[in-house]
Amino acid sequence: MQVPAFFEYQRATSVEHVVALLERFGPEARIVAGGHSLIPMMKLRLAQPELLVDVNDLHELSGVSVVDGQLRIGALTRHAELLASAVAGEHFPILHDAERVIADPVVRNRGTVGGSVCQADPSEDLSGVFTALRTVAVVRGPDGERTVPMREFFRGPYETAVAPAEILVELRVPLRPGAGSAYVKVDRRAGDWAVAAAGAVVSLGPGRVVTEVGIGLTAVGDADFTAVEAEDLLRGEVADEDAFAAAGAAASAHCRPVADQRGPVDYKRHLAGELTVRALRAAAARAHDGTT
Ligand SMILES: Cc1cc2nc3c(=O)[nH]c(=O)nc-3n(C[C@H](O)[C@H](O)[C@H](O)COP(=O)(O)OP(=O)(O)OC[C@H]3O[C@@H](n4cnc5c(N)ncnc54)[C@H](O)[C@@H]3O)c2cc1C
Repeated sequence: MQVPAFFEYQRATSVEHVVALLERFGPEARIVAGGHSLIPMMKLRLAQPELLVDVNDLHELSGVSVVDGQLRIGALTRHAELLASAVAGEHFPILHDAERVIADPVVRNRGTVGGSVCQADPSEDLSGVFTALRTVAVVRGPDGERTVPMREFFRGPYETAVAPAEILVELRVPLRPGAGSAYVKVDRRAGDWAVAAAGAVVSLGPGRVVTEVGIGLTAVGDADFTAVEAEDLLRGEVADEDAFAAAGAAASAHCRPVADQRGPVDYKRHLAGELTVRALRAAAARAHDGTT
Protein backbone atom coordinates (compact mmCIF):
# COMPACT_ATOMS: atom_id res chain seq x y z
CA MET A 1 0.00 0.00 0.00
CA GLN A 2 1.32 3.46 -0.90
CA VAL A 3 0.73 5.96 1.91
CA PRO A 4 2.15 9.50 2.11
CA ALA A 5 4.22 10.59 5.11
CA PHE A 6 2.45 12.67 7.78
CA PHE A 7 1.62 16.24 6.71
CA GLU A 8 -0.44 19.22 7.87
CA TYR A 9 -3.25 20.61 5.72
CA GLN A 10 -4.62 24.16 5.37
CA ARG A 11 -7.39 25.39 3.09
CA ALA A 12 -6.40 28.86 1.85
CA THR A 13 -9.01 31.63 1.81
CA SER A 14 -7.12 34.12 -0.36
CA VAL A 15 -3.93 34.46 -2.39
CA GLU A 16 -2.48 36.54 0.48
CA HIS A 17 -3.29 33.67 2.85
CA VAL A 18 -1.43 31.24 0.54
CA VAL A 19 1.63 33.49 0.49
CA ALA A 20 1.56 33.93 4.29
CA LEU A 21 1.40 30.15 4.83
CA LEU A 22 4.16 29.48 2.30
CA GLU A 23 6.34 32.13 3.94
CA ARG A 24 5.76 30.71 7.43
CA PHE A 25 6.56 27.09 6.51
CA GLY A 26 9.28 27.76 3.89
CA PRO A 27 10.21 25.14 1.28
CA GLU A 28 8.52 22.37 3.32
CA ALA A 29 5.11 23.75 2.31
CA ARG A 30 3.54 22.88 -1.05
CA ILE A 31 0.49 24.17 -2.85
CA VAL A 32 -2.00 21.49 -3.86
CA ALA A 33 -4.33 22.23 -6.79
CA GLY A 34 -5.73 19.19 -8.63
CA GLY A 35 -3.34 16.92 -6.74
CA HIS A 36 -2.94 14.63 -9.75
CA SER A 37 0.83 15.01 -9.81
CA LEU A 38 1.67 15.95 -6.22
CA ILE A 39 -0.37 13.28 -4.40
CA PRO A 40 1.09 10.35 -6.41
CA MET A 41 4.58 11.76 -5.71
CA MET A 42 3.74 11.94 -1.99
CA LYS A 43 2.48 8.37 -2.01
CA LEU A 44 5.77 7.28 -3.56
CA ARG A 45 7.61 9.45 -0.98
CA LEU A 46 9.25 11.37 -3.84
CA ALA A 47 7.76 14.48 -2.18
CA GLN A 48 7.30 14.79 1.58
CA PRO A 49 5.87 18.27 2.28
CA GLU A 50 5.16 19.15 5.91
CA LEU A 51 2.21 21.35 4.91
CA LEU A 52 -0.23 21.19 2.00
CA VAL A 53 -1.86 24.52 1.13
CA ASP A 54 -5.09 23.74 -0.70
CA VAL A 55 -6.02 26.50 -3.20
CA ASN A 56 -9.25 24.95 -4.48
CA ASP A 57 -11.48 27.58 -2.82
CA LEU A 58 -9.75 30.44 -4.65
CA HIS A 59 -12.27 30.81 -7.46
CA GLU A 60 -10.65 34.08 -8.56
CA LEU A 61 -7.79 31.92 -9.90
CA SER A 62 -10.13 30.05 -12.30
CA GLY A 63 -11.37 30.96 -15.75
CA VAL A 64 -10.42 31.97 -19.26
CA SER A 65 -11.05 35.48 -20.65
CA VAL A 66 -9.74 38.12 -23.03
CA VAL A 67 -8.49 41.28 -21.31
CA ASP A 68 -6.36 44.07 -22.85
CA GLY A 69 -5.41 42.06 -25.93
CA GLN A 70 -4.40 38.97 -23.97
CA LEU A 71 -5.95 35.59 -23.37
CA ARG A 72 -5.82 35.20 -19.59
CA ILE A 73 -5.97 31.73 -18.08
CA GLY A 74 -6.24 31.45 -14.31
CA ALA A 75 -3.81 29.00 -12.69
CA LEU A 76 -6.66 27.01 -11.13
CA THR A 77 -8.46 26.54 -14.46
CA ARG A 78 -9.09 22.80 -14.92
CA HIS A 79 -7.92 21.10 -18.10
CA ALA A 80 -11.59 20.37 -18.91
CA GLU A 81 -12.50 24.06 -18.58
CA LEU A 82 -9.75 25.09 -20.99
CA LEU A 83 -10.88 22.40 -23.42
CA ALA A 84 -14.46 23.70 -23.19
CA SER A 85 -13.48 27.37 -23.52
CA ALA A 86 -14.76 28.77 -26.83
CA VAL A 87 -12.63 31.90 -26.54
CA ALA A 88 -9.46 29.82 -26.04
CA GLY A 89 -10.25 27.64 -29.08
CA GLU A 90 -11.16 30.64 -31.23
CA HIS A 91 -7.84 32.44 -30.66
CA PHE A 92 -5.49 29.50 -30.12
CA PRO A 93 -6.69 26.09 -31.39
CA ILE A 94 -3.34 24.70 -30.15
CA LEU A 95 -4.83 24.80 -26.63
CA HIS A 96 -7.72 22.55 -27.62
CA ASP A 97 -5.42 20.27 -29.69
CA ALA A 98 -3.30 19.72 -26.58
CA GLU A 99 -6.09 19.43 -24.02
CA ARG A 100 -7.86 16.77 -26.12
CA VAL A 101 -4.82 14.48 -25.74
CA ILE A 102 -3.94 15.11 -22.07
CA ALA A 103 -4.74 12.01 -20.03
CA ASP A 104 -8.45 11.16 -19.71
CA PRO A 105 -11.62 12.96 -18.55
CA VAL A 106 -11.03 12.01 -14.89
CA VAL A 107 -7.62 13.72 -14.87
CA ARG A 108 -8.83 16.62 -17.00
CA ASN A 109 -11.77 17.33 -14.69
CA ARG A 110 -9.49 17.84 -11.71
CA GLY A 111 -5.96 18.65 -12.94
CA THR A 112 -5.19 22.34 -13.42
CA VAL A 113 -3.31 24.40 -15.95
CA GLY A 114 -1.19 25.98 -13.19
CA GLY A 115 -0.39 22.60 -11.63
CA SER A 116 0.71 21.31 -15.02
CA VAL A 117 3.26 24.04 -15.68
CA CYS A 118 4.44 24.23 -12.05
CA GLN A 119 5.02 20.48 -12.02
CA ALA A 120 7.49 21.06 -14.91
CA ASP A 121 7.49 17.38 -15.82
CA PRO A 122 9.47 17.14 -19.10
CA SER A 123 6.47 15.29 -20.60
CA GLU A 124 3.85 17.87 -19.61
CA ASP A 125 1.98 18.83 -22.80
CA LEU A 126 1.05 22.38 -21.79
CA SER A 127 4.68 23.33 -21.16
CA GLY A 128 5.51 22.95 -24.87
CA VAL A 129 2.29 24.72 -25.81
CA PHE A 130 2.83 27.75 -23.59
CA THR A 131 6.45 28.23 -24.69
CA ALA A 132 5.34 28.09 -28.35
CA LEU A 133 2.73 30.74 -27.52
CA ARG A 134 5.30 32.99 -25.77
CA THR A 135 3.08 33.08 -22.73
CA VAL A 136 3.81 35.24 -19.71
CA ALA A 137 3.36 33.77 -16.22
CA VAL A 138 2.07 36.02 -13.43
CA VAL A 139 3.44 35.08 -10.02
CA ARG A 140 2.55 36.56 -6.61
CA GLY A 141 4.69 36.43 -3.45
CA PRO A 142 5.72 38.37 -0.34
CA ASP A 143 7.11 41.22 -2.50
CA GLY A 144 3.99 41.52 -4.65
CA GLU A 145 3.37 40.49 -8.24
CA ARG A 146 5.93 39.84 -10.98
CA THR A 147 5.83 38.42 -14.48
CA VAL A 148 8.05 35.71 -15.96
CA PRO A 149 8.21 34.92 -19.70
CA MET A 150 7.44 31.22 -20.17
CA ARG A 151 10.80 30.73 -21.87
CA GLU A 152 12.48 31.68 -18.58
CA PHE A 153 9.97 29.84 -16.40
CA PHE A 154 11.37 26.29 -16.61
CA ARG A 155 14.68 25.80 -14.80
CA GLY A 156 15.01 22.06 -15.45
CA PRO A 157 12.97 18.93 -14.74
CA TYR A 158 10.50 19.66 -11.90
CA GLU A 159 12.00 23.13 -11.30
CA THR A 160 10.51 26.49 -12.17
CA ALA A 161 11.09 30.18 -11.56
CA VAL A 162 8.30 30.18 -8.92
CA ALA A 163 10.04 30.69 -5.56
CA PRO A 164 9.02 28.65 -2.48
CA ALA A 165 6.86 31.50 -1.05
CA GLU A 166 5.25 32.36 -4.40
CA ILE A 167 2.12 31.20 -6.22
CA LEU A 168 1.43 31.20 -9.95
CA VAL A 169 -1.82 33.11 -10.39
CA GLU A 170 -2.31 33.47 -14.14
CA LEU A 171 -0.96 32.78 -17.62
CA ARG A 172 -1.25 35.56 -20.22
CA VAL A 173 -1.04 34.87 -23.95
CA PRO A 174 -0.79 37.91 -26.24
CA LEU A 175 -3.48 37.73 -28.94
CA ARG A 176 -2.11 37.50 -32.50
CA PRO A 177 -4.84 38.18 -35.06
CA GLY A 178 -4.41 35.94 -38.10
CA ALA A 179 -1.87 33.61 -36.47
CA GLY A 180 -2.41 29.85 -36.78
CA SER A 181 -1.49 27.30 -34.16
CA ALA A 182 -1.50 23.52 -33.73
CA TYR A 183 -0.24 20.71 -31.45
CA VAL A 184 0.50 17.12 -32.45
CA LYS A 185 1.46 14.29 -30.14
CA VAL A 186 2.47 10.65 -30.46
CA ASP A 187 1.60 8.47 -27.48
CA ARG A 188 1.63 4.71 -27.05
CA ARG A 189 -2.10 4.55 -26.36
CA ALA A 190 -4.93 7.06 -25.92
CA GLY A 191 -4.45 9.17 -22.79
CA ASP A 192 -0.81 8.26 -22.23
CA TRP A 193 2.04 10.68 -21.73
CA ALA A 194 3.79 11.78 -24.93
CA VAL A 195 6.55 9.76 -26.58
CA ALA A 196 7.14 13.13 -28.25
CA ALA A 197 4.98 16.11 -29.20
CA ALA A 198 5.34 19.45 -30.95
CA GLY A 199 3.37 22.69 -30.92
CA ALA A 200 3.64 25.54 -33.39
CA VAL A 201 2.31 29.09 -33.66
CA VAL A 202 2.81 30.81 -37.02
CA SER A 203 2.14 34.41 -38.14
CA LEU A 204 2.23 35.06 -41.89
CA GLY A 205 2.69 38.24 -43.92
CA PRO A 206 1.99 38.89 -47.63
CA GLY A 207 3.18 36.02 -49.84
CA ARG A 208 2.83 33.70 -46.85
CA VAL A 209 6.21 34.79 -45.48
CA VAL A 210 6.66 33.76 -41.84
CA THR A 211 6.82 36.95 -39.76
CA GLU A 212 6.84 35.23 -36.36
CA VAL A 213 6.92 31.65 -35.20
CA GLY A 214 6.97 29.76 -31.91
CA ILE A 215 7.83 26.05 -31.70
CA GLY A 216 7.52 24.06 -28.47
CA LEU A 217 8.69 20.48 -28.01
CA THR A 218 7.45 18.10 -25.31
CA ALA A 219 9.23 15.04 -23.86
CA VAL A 220 12.42 15.32 -25.93
CA GLY A 221 14.70 16.99 -23.42
CA ASP A 222 14.75 20.65 -24.41
CA ALA A 223 15.38 22.48 -21.15
CA ASP A 224 12.91 25.26 -21.88
CA PHE A 225 10.69 23.19 -24.24
CA THR A 226 11.62 25.52 -27.13
CA ALA A 227 13.07 24.68 -30.57
CA VAL A 228 14.88 28.01 -30.98
CA GLU A 229 17.09 26.95 -33.92
CA ALA A 230 14.05 25.81 -35.90
CA GLU A 231 12.27 29.10 -35.16
CA ASP A 232 15.30 31.12 -36.33
CA LEU A 233 15.47 29.13 -39.58
CA LEU A 234 11.82 29.67 -40.41
CA ARG A 235 11.45 33.38 -39.64
CA GLY A 236 11.50 35.35 -42.94
CA GLU A 237 10.96 32.24 -45.12
CA VAL A 238 7.93 31.40 -47.23
CA ALA A 239 5.81 28.91 -45.28
CA ASP A 240 6.16 25.92 -47.60
CA GLU A 241 7.16 22.26 -47.33
CA ASP A 242 10.88 22.96 -47.87
CA ALA A 243 10.94 25.48 -45.04
CA PHE A 244 9.01 23.15 -42.72
CA ALA A 245 11.40 20.28 -43.54
CA ALA A 246 14.42 22.46 -42.71
CA ALA A 247 12.84 23.53 -39.42
CA GLY A 248 11.99 19.90 -38.60
CA ALA A 249 15.59 18.85 -39.26
CA ALA A 250 16.84 21.62 -36.96
CA ALA A 251 14.41 20.61 -34.18
CA SER A 252 15.48 16.99 -34.54
CA ALA A 253 19.19 17.83 -34.45
CA HIS A 254 18.99 20.10 -31.40
CA CYS A 255 16.63 18.19 -29.09
CA ARG A 256 18.06 15.97 -26.35
CA PRO A 257 15.77 12.97 -25.79
CA VAL A 258 16.62 10.18 -23.40
CA ALA A 259 15.91 6.48 -23.97
CA ASP A 260 13.18 5.02 -21.75
CA GLN A 261 10.21 2.64 -21.91
CA ARG A 262 8.66 4.92 -24.55
CA GLY A 263 11.48 4.42 -27.04
CA PRO A 264 15.15 4.85 -27.95
CA VAL A 265 16.87 8.18 -28.60
CA ASP A 266 16.94 7.86 -32.42
CA TYR A 267 13.21 7.18 -32.61
CA LYS A 268 12.35 10.15 -30.39
CA ARG A 269 14.73 12.40 -32.32
CA HIS A 270 13.06 11.36 -35.58
CA LEU A 271 9.62 11.97 -34.07
CA ALA A 272 10.61 15.44 -32.85
CA GLY A 273 11.51 16.43 -36.41
CA GLU A 274 8.46 14.86 -38.04
CA LEU A 275 6.03 16.26 -35.46
CA THR A 276 7.57 19.73 -35.84
CA VAL A 277 6.85 19.54 -39.59
CA ARG A 278 3.28 18.39 -38.98
CA ALA A 279 2.59 21.05 -36.34
CA LEU A 280 4.00 23.79 -38.61
CA ARG A 281 1.97 22.54 -41.58
CA ALA A 282 -1.25 22.50 -39.55
CA ALA A 283 -0.55 25.89 -37.92
CA ALA A 284 0.23 27.54 -41.27
CA ALA A 285 -2.96 26.08 -42.78
CA ARG A 286 -4.92 27.77 -39.97
CA ALA A 287 -3.12 31.13 -40.40
CA HIS A 288 -4.23 34.07 -42.58
CA ASP A 289 -1.66 36.17 -44.41
CA GLY A 290 -3.89 39.26 -44.36
CA THR A 291 -4.45 39.31 -48.15
CA THR A 292 -7.67 37.26 -48.20
C1 LIG B 1 -2.99 9.11 -14.98
C2 LIG B 1 -2.45 10.46 -15.34
C3 LIG B 1 -2.16 10.72 -16.67
C4 LIG B 1 -1.67 11.97 -17.04
N1 LIG B 1 -1.39 12.20 -18.36
C5 LIG B 1 -0.94 13.41 -18.75
C6 LIG B 1 -0.64 13.69 -20.11
O1 LIG B 1 -0.83 12.87 -21.01
N2 LIG B 1 -0.16 14.93 -20.40
C7 LIG B 1 0.03 15.88 -19.45
O2 LIG B 1 0.46 16.98 -19.78
N3 LIG B 1 -0.26 15.67 -18.16
C8 LIG B 1 -0.73 14.46 -17.78
N4 LIG B 1 -1.01 14.22 -16.45
C9 LIG B 1 -0.76 15.28 -15.47
C10 LIG B 1 -2.00 16.13 -15.28
O3 LIG B 1 -2.07 17.05 -16.34
C11 LIG B 1 -1.96 16.90 -13.93
O4 LIG B 1 -3.17 17.48 -13.73
C12 LIG B 1 -0.96 18.02 -13.85
O5 LIG B 1 0.33 17.55 -14.06
C13 LIG B 1 -0.87 18.67 -12.47
O6 LIG B 1 -1.97 19.44 -12.23
P1 LIG B 1 -2.60 19.44 -10.76
O7 LIG B 1 -3.53 20.59 -10.71
O8 LIG B 1 -3.13 18.09 -10.48
O9 LIG B 1 -1.30 19.80 -9.87
P2 LIG B 1 -0.91 19.31 -8.41
O10 LIG B 1 -0.63 17.87 -8.39
O11 LIG B 1 -1.87 19.84 -7.42
O12 LIG B 1 0.47 20.14 -8.25
C14 LIG B 1 1.58 19.85 -9.07
C15 LIG B 1 2.75 20.76 -8.64
O13 LIG B 1 2.48 22.11 -8.95
C16 LIG B 1 2.47 22.92 -7.77
N5 LIG B 1 1.39 23.90 -7.97
C17 LIG B 1 0.11 23.63 -8.29
N6 LIG B 1 -0.56 24.78 -8.50
C18 LIG B 1 0.33 25.78 -8.27
C19 LIG B 1 0.25 27.22 -8.33
N7 LIG B 1 -0.89 27.85 -8.69
N8 LIG B 1 1.36 27.94 -8.04
C20 LIG B 1 2.52 27.32 -7.72
N9 LIG B 1 2.67 25.99 -7.65
C21 LIG B 1 1.57 25.22 -7.93
C22 LIG B 1 2.27 21.95 -6.61
O14 LIG B 1 2.82 22.45 -5.40
C23 LIG B 1 3.01 20.74 -7.12
O15 LIG B 1 4.39 20.90 -6.91
C24 LIG B 1 -1.48 12.98 -16.06
C25 LIG B 1 -1.79 12.72 -14.72
C26 LIG B 1 -2.27 11.47 -14.35
C27 LIG B 1 -2.60 11.23 -12.91
